[in-house]
Amino acid sequence: MVVRMMRVLHSQKWGSKLGISANQAGFPYRVCIVLGRVLVNPTFTPTKAPPNTMLEGCYSLGMDAVYEVPRAPYGWLKWQDTKGEWHEEKVKDVKAVVVQHELDHLDGKSCVESGKRVQAPKK
Ligand SMILES: [Zn+2]
Repeated sequence: MVVRMMRVLHSQKWGSKLGISANQAGFPYRVCIVLGRVLVNPTFTPTKAPPNTMLEGCYSLGMDAVYEVPRAPYGWLKWQDTKGEWHEEKVKDVKAVVVQHELDHLDGKSCVESGKRVQAPKK
């Protein structure tokens, strides 16, 4: 399954390929890949600090759709690896954003529900 998810992610023709969730590749499991790391049953506990507004795109929404999404600047990620062992780590910056984006997918949400659409930046 992970191989298949990686293949779907790397078959995308645009974007920075930061992450993908299992349901985007057709698997009904709480698994996602964030910056190359496989997260099984991930949970994210955000800081109570005020959120940053991030500009995000999504492979499920097409390359012209850009969304402003409020994201916690950092938080605590818990997950199992593919052997079932639990890990915990404080994540911030890009990693925290990608984690929140992929966990939204696992909860059946995308930037459409979490943010608001804005004009794509000119290239
Ligand atoms: Zn997405």
